[in-house]
Amino acid sequence: MITKRPLFTASDLLGNRRKLLGACMVLLVLLIGATWLIVNNSQQKLIEFKSRQIANVVANQATTARSIYTRTVVSKLKKDGFQASTASDNTVGAVPIPAQFLKALAHDSSENSGGSYQFRPLSKWNLSAEQGLNDDFQKWAWEKLEEQDRKGSSGRIDWEPIWRIEQVGGIDALRYLVADPASSQSCVDCHNAMEKTPQIRAQRVQAGVPVGKTWELNDLMGALEVIVPVHESSVLAASQTRNGLLIVLAVSLIGILLVLGVSAIDRARALGLTRNLEHQARNDSLTNLPNRAGFEHVASRIIGASDKEKETHAVMLLDLNDFKRINDTLGHHIGDEVLVKVAQNLERHLPGNALVSRLGGDEFAILIPGADAETACVVATTIDQQLDQIIEIDEYRLHSPASIGVAFYPADSQQLDELLRCADVAMYCSKRNRGGYRFYNEEHDNNHLNTLSVISDFKSALNEGDLSLVYQPKFNIRTGSICGVEALLRWKHPEFGMIPPVRIIPIAEQTGQIGQLTKWTLETGLAQLKKWLGKGFDINLAINLSVEMLDKTSTVDMILSCLRSADIPASRLVIEVTESAMMSDPDLALELITMLSDNGVIISLDDFGTGYSSLSQVHKLPLDELKLDRSFLLNADQDKNKAIIKTAIELAANLGLVLVAEGVEDLDTLALLYDLECEVVQGYLLSRPISPEEIDKQFKLLEKAAGQLAIELSGIAYVSAAA
Ligand code: C2E
Ligand code: CA
Ligand code: CA
Repeated sequence: MITKRPLFTASDLLGNRRKLLGACMVLLVLLIGATWLIVNNSQQKLIEFKSRQIANVVANQATTARSIYTRTVVSKLKKDGFQASTASDNTVGAVPIPAQFLKALAHDSSENSGGSYQFRPLSKWNLSAEQGLNDDFQKWAWEKLEEQDRKGSSGRIDWEPIWRIEQVGGIDALRYLVADPASSQSCVDCHNAMEKTPQIRAQRVQAGVPVGKTWELNDLMGALEVIVPVHESSVLAASQTRNGLLIVLAVSLIGILLVLGVSAIDRARALGLTRNLEHQARNDSLTNLPNRAGFEHVASRIIGASDKEKETHAVMLLDLNDFKRINDTLGHHIGDEVLVKVAQNLERHLPGNALVSRLGGDEFAILIPGADAETACVVATTIDQQLDQIIEIDEYRLHSPASIGVAFYPADSQQLDELLRCADVAMYCSKRNRGGYRFYNEEHDNNHLNTLSVISDFKSALNEGDLSLVYQPKFNIRTGSICGVEALLRWKHPEFGMIPPVRIIPIAEQTGQIGQLTKWTLETGLAQLKKWLGKGFDINLAINLSVEMLDKTSTVDMILSCLRSADIPASRLVIEVTESAMMSDPDLALELITMLSDNGVIISLDDFGTGYSSLSQVHKLPLDELKLDRSFLLNADQDKNKAIIKTAIELAANLGLVLVAEGVEDLDTLALLYDLECEVVQGYLLSRPISPEEIDKQFKLLEKAAGQLAIELSGIAYVSAAA
């Protein structure tokens, strides 16, 4: 047995691959945005840091050079009797003061820096045009420096440089102002003395600056402005940011493709494993022929797609006459070999298009598409003769002729199970005649619909409890949960065995007992639902309403009164009406279902697509649910059916209705429905109709299995292990 252990539980399953892709895209955009912000921000910080380092070095070098000039050149010359002069080098016999030296140094150094920096001394007190405070940055930065000044402080001040990045001459540059304080007493004295000279006073008055400024040690006297262009580094950084982004983008894209690729491979692998299970479930391991499920699967498709006006098919049932004796006397090993030989024999002598299967034991079923009575006669005779031959196994020479029964589509029935039943009746006839083959004949069929005894038995069945309901779950394939169950009628006849609802309902209708049957169904189903709701199963209950019941206004009263007696809210009851039933008396039916709908009952249109209501009429009905007929799903791989399924899903979505796909028998159909965004499905693949006890036992298991299927379909990775 293969067990699968999901990495995610069913409740994690909110998305399919499209949602995964969407999430990846959002993630990618967020990732790129975040990368851009981080990289850009850190590049910018780095540029600013490096530019400030340059500015710092330039300012340091300049003030150091000025100190050396002051200490060595000026001191020496003054000691030798020369004067210091504000007029710089123009005055004969005078030494230029350090400020003049700094100005010249700034000029020359900036010119020779090759554009990598510029600097100049500045001061609010300097009256020459190029050294005063002339623009916004200089005034703003000077104010910031002044805020750091501590008047009269004797200790050194730790001046913080002031800077910002702005455009200078059309390019981005770091502008940086560092304090140049009165750092020695001689400097303070000299400046204070100069401030008092008539020449400076006159200049101050003329410029509107207050006169009589006195400096103290460590006062903010002047500043050095350094300008470092950052433009080129910014361009380089931007290109690096871009490259970084491209790398992130490429890596993320590869990552996303890998995730999607892995999830696609995983989905394929998961589907492959499930397909293996499907194969095992539909094939007989002994003969390698299809088993009953495999036969029903293929045969019902062929019959479902047939045109009863133009086509005929033969269904044969074949049973070995002496098999039990062989098995009992020679053992299962020999019995098995006989079955294998018979299977090979059948395959060899049947027409190429025939579907042959082993139903179980020594019973084989054959469908011969397109066969009429004449062809069936030839085929049955051939098989009969072949199986009448001696079979040699080990030292044994065995003889096990067959009894064959034949029924025809559409003459005997249009339903596969009914055709098999008819072939079975015919086979027993031939068995009674010691082999050979027989065609089905109604006269030999005491289980026929018209048999009076069956009709009269129905009344007592209804009264004596021979009827029962089985329940088929409806699954939400996005979440893996069971959202509801449909009640389906069963009658186990004491003599004839299980009689299907398609045969019971006409009897009930013909004998005027349909009202009583419907009431019984509602009461039984609702009582069962009450128990399930009590157990915490969050489900609703669907009941099929016969066309006859749509003729009576009393039906509404009956349904509502059943709901009241069972103490169940109307929103837990789904009434399924077929399209054709709706159309028999559309006005009355509309009135009836409108009343039910107004009372909160959920209305579902059953067998949608097979009746007469055109798509445009559906929106006039007060519907909550469409149940797409299973004939469209039988051959869902055909383009025409695929288009109908797609249209129905879209129609339901547009009208705000739930679409239920019924009769889902295989994985491919389920995968197709999943991809078309269908939510609710019902069918043998997920669960056959089962007894209430079985629902009790299997509810959680079924939800778990559906959850795992949903995980596989959504393409989310899971771990599988053979156990
Ligand atoms: P329906 O309402 O369309 O019910 C679905 C039928 O399809 C059921 O057959 C169900 O067993 C069968 N089915 C479900 N999934 C699959 C699948 O994957 N493959 C195949 N081949 N068949 C599938 P069932 O139980 O024989 O009922 C046949 C019809 O009888 C129902 O068709 C419904 O119209 C009618 N019926 C059943 N119970 C009642 C009832 O209590 N009252 C009335 N009025 N009609 C009922
Ligand atoms: Ca139904
Ligand atoms: Ca149906």
